[in-house]
Amino acid sequence: METITSLAYLLAAVLFIFGLKRLSSPKTARQGNLLAMTGMLIAIVVTLLDQSILDFTYIIIGLVIGGAIGLIAARMVEMTQMPQMVALFNGFGGVASALVAFSEYSAKSTMALGQENVIWLELFPANVSVTLVLSLLIGTVTFTGSLIAFAKLQGIMRGAPVTFPGQQWVNALILIVALGLGGFFVFDPTLMNFLMAIIVLAAILGVFSVIPIGGADMPVVISLLNSYSGLAAAATGFVLSNNMLIIAGALVGASGLILTNIMCKAMNRSLTNVLFAAVGTEGGSGTISAEERKNVTEYSAEDAAMVLDSAQSIIIVPGYGLAVAQAQHVLQELAEMFIDSGKSVRYAIHPVAGRMPGHMNVLLAEANVPYDILVEMDAINDDFQNTDVVLVIGANDVINPAARTDKDSPLYGMPILNVDKARSVMIIKRSLSPGFAGVDNRLFYDSKTMMLFGDAKKMVTELVREAKEL
Ligand code: NDP
Repeated sequence: METITSLAYLLAAVLFIFGLKRLSSPKTARQGNLLAMTGMLIAIVVTLLDQSILDFTYIIIGLVIGGAIGLIAARMVEMTQMPQMVALFNGFGGVASALVAFSEYSAKSTMALGQENVIWLELFPANVSVTLVLSLLIGTVTFTGSLIAFAKLQGIMRGAPVTFPGQQWVNALILIVALGLGGFFVFDPTLMNFLMAIIVLAAILGVFSVIPIGGADMPVVISLLNSYSGLAAAATGFVLSNNMLIIAGALVGASGLILTNIMCKAMNRSLTNVLFAAVGTEGGSGTISAEERKNVTEYSAEDAAMVLDSAQSIIIVPGYGLAVAQAQHVLQELAEMFIDSGKSVRYAIHPVAGRMPGHMNVLLAEANVPYDILVEMDAINDDFQNTDVVLVIGANDVINPAARTDKDSPLYGMPILNVDKARSVMIIKRSLSPGFAGVDNRLFYDSKTMMLFGDAKKMVTELVREAKEL
């Protein structure tokens, strides 16, 4: 049985790795998901066949309740609320790892009650105690940190950074004390109170390390916490001597870190800056004068359809507003009309457009947009200057020229789509209000910009109607 289990775990691990690899391109992502899901199913079934399980009652109750919550959540949660959902998943993953590790400790320690310290040390050799402490520490930090990230994104808490003097020193001190207590525990595993203290300190550390981070940086934090949840799972894998958990945890830990790095690069920020600089206040940056604000050129759908009709080359820039309005299907209908009439039409995808990595790719794949007209930022940025019209739909920060020109802007340094270089720009959004980063956008007041105010779906539907009449 042990050999079968090991082989099945090996197969599951291989499926995870191939699944992850396939997730790196929109073309193969669905297949990647299927492979990884199959791997997880194999891992769960084989684990359930373990002969040391005497009673399945609680396992079945857990599966039914957890499965039902997961199913309902997956059906109800909107695509735009996905980051919050992922935050909760990470948090629960972290706390699950910590609980499993703790229950292993409490089961073994019951057996050793009243015994000499030597027996305890035999039951809890250094490698087990160290990983037990790490699992509790990282798992609990992930849990409370993720709850704060969830609360900020869900609007339960204010998104603005919450700071107090000496915050980073306090956090460092909490971490040092928790690690110190862990050190004592490794030498004396009877010290259960120390484990409890580590859990309390880790819970506080999770809260204190996420509250100073602004709402706009939450997706990066969530990716980092995702990585932590993997590390906690790997640590628990060592406590249980379960290879599957070690491998799966390490894969989650590594891929979470890689994703965090990709997002930081896309925003031209270092991870230290995201974690410690308390970037992001609420409200606009207010650098645009009242005089400038009068220079808005508003277009109707009818006029805009005529401009688009006379264009030869069009680049469509999707953003978060497209996802909110669920305008992707009607947008693709419009794009197909243009393509059929012989125009060059492409979509420009910014790596952090929307609210999570790959958000725009997922959305446009839903609307069956061919992959060959989805072009990544670096590959399309030089083409804007030769483009007749750029049609921006619900995007704001990712096209804000302040990222290039305004050193005081929180967006400064973030790579943006060079929309302002195009011959003319058409922007669909409901108002002049700023985007996620809370920064005004001077492009709205540019003489070559046409603003189409309204909900993205309604406005694109009108554009389709008008274009059909031409
Ligand atoms: P933004 O949040 O900058 O702008 C979206 C715009 O959409 C808003 O200005 C809003 O304007 C408009 N909008 C909202 N609802 C609608 C609607 N129903 N119809 C039409 N317009 C609508 O989004 P971007 O995609 O440009 O930028 C993404 C932001 O998220 C960046 O700041 C990025 O750094 C951040 N981020 C993204 C991550 C990722 O992985 N994707 C990770 C970390 C951060 P109005 O209210 O006037 O309609």
